[in-house]
Amino acid sequence: MPEDWRERPLGIFGGTFDPVHFGHLRLAEEAADHLQLGEVCWIPAGQPPLRAAPQVSARHRLAMVRLATARNPSFEVDAAEVDTAQASYTVLTLERLRQANQLGQRRPLVLLLGADAFAALPGWHRWQSLLELAHIGVAHRPGFPIDVARLPEALLACYRERFCAQPAALRESAAGRIATFAMTPLGISATQIRTLLANGSSPRYLLPDEVIAYIRNHRLYPEK
Ligand code: ATP
Ligand code: MG
Repeated sequence: MPEDWRERPLGIFGGTFDPVHFGHLRLAEEAADHLQLGEVCWIPAGQPPLRAAPQVSARHRLAMVRLATARNPSFEVDAAEVDTAQASYTVLTLERLRQANQLGQRRPLVLLLGADAFAALPGWHRWQSLLELAHIGVAHRPGFPIDVARLPEALLACYRERFCAQPAALRESAAGRIATFAMTPLGISATQIRTLLANGSSPRYLLPDEVIAYIRNHRLYPEK
């Protein structure tokens, strides 16, 4: 481990993970590499406010994320959103992390988002405060080009002002910059996996075998 690992930014990766798949895992792995992150903290959403209720409970989604990430020492899992009945707002999560003793105000945080989630950012609760708390790292995602000209106006202005081409810039402040990175394009989505399972088709090689075994053992996503 490099000597300066404590100064490296901490990646924050939230999602519904219904279920977690290799698109998520490669995003976190490649973000750590491209953006020179110390670790990536995965935060499964308890009650995502902006979408239909997840198909399986937060407890099961958390257990699947734990299984998928267990053997990677650079990955941590934060269960706090799953443990509360409140809606999961990322800005509140970041405020909570900033208040945590071991993290404090100075360590750079990088909120990791796929390009679809980034384009939808202006719909998030207090979205402009996110950049006071963290940097944002945006991953390319097949089907969701980062098309600057089509970003909502407020987000475009923010992007132009804060974009940094050099990931090293993320170490120079605790928050406020936007970086993008081209991860291996993987056209995998949890929606696709739920559809395969509902149809009785195999989801193998789209997500880890341990997660598939968990789904089978707990009879999640039953055939319709
Ligand atoms: P769903 O189809 O249920 O929306 P999903 O596959 O999009 O599921 P989410 O839990 O919604 O997974 O996504 C969590 C985060 O991971 C989001 O920021 C999303 O953009 C990103 N993401 C998910 N899949 C990919 C992928 N294949 N490539 C790049 N980013 C991805
Ligand atoms: Mg999604």
